[in-house]
Amino acid sequence: MVDRTKLEQKLQKLSELPKEEQAKAIKTLFTRDELDSLRQNAQQSGVQKCIFCAIAKHNVPAKIVYDDANFTAFLDINPANPGHILVIPKEHYEVLPQLPDALLNAYMKLLKILSAAVFEATNAQGSNIIQNNGVVAGQAVPHIHFHIIPRFENDGIKVDWTAKKVTEKQLENIQQRIITTAQKVIGGEPVSQQVKHTESKTFSPPDTPKPAKKQKLIKVKKRRP
Ligand code: AMP
Ligand code: ZN
Repeated sequence: MVDRTKLEQKLQKLSELPKEEQAKAIKTLFTRDELDSLRQNAQQSGVQKCIFCAIAKHNVPAKIVYDDANFTAFLDINPANPGHILVIPKEHYEVLPQLPDALLNAYMKLLKILSAAVFEATNAQGSNIIQNNGVVAGQAVPHIHFHIIPRFENDGIKVDWTAKKVTEKQLENIQQRIITTAQKVIGGEPVSQQVKHTESKTFSPPDTPKPAKKQKLIKVKKRRP
């Protein structure tokens, strides 16, 4: 049980710290239960004003192309190309690392089915499946969504970046850090990460993944060249 008064005091203390010290202080200041409670509050207030939650609940209109108990897919109102859709979990989660493992298989399978459907329906020659996490990465709506964008020759869309120069040592260093973090997550050890959206947030990785069940392959008809 979380003591609300204590939690308020800690939040006050946190807000008085310089911005650059706050992220570090979160890890030492709050207990795991307090962090869970803060996360739940943030999620609830996010849900209340989230446009994608409203679409998933059919409370605001959208051109829905798929809907089940856990997922909704609908046309993007400002499409990169006609047939550009968004695929969302019905539950409100802001960024992909927050998504429960239990939804992952079905999500990936649905993305595969819908990307095939978009291919067929638009006679696309290719597609981009894009998922942004955090404002800094271009995420405008803080509810997990995958974009499926059909692509055509000379359609003028750019998914592009300028490569950064890195040394072999820098590559090895980041390789090691990612391996170490991934191993901790796979081993079930809690790892806090910072994800910036409208504000800094800490969150824990999802539960340890369970082995995937065998799934049927989806047949995709040959597209026009
Ligand atoms: P992102 O920048 O990855 O967060 O993408 C958000 C996408 O949501 C943009 O492509 C918007 O055009 C789209 N979008 C925002 N509001 C709506 C809405 N009410 N219905 C359909 N698409 C929307
Ligand atoms: Zn939402």
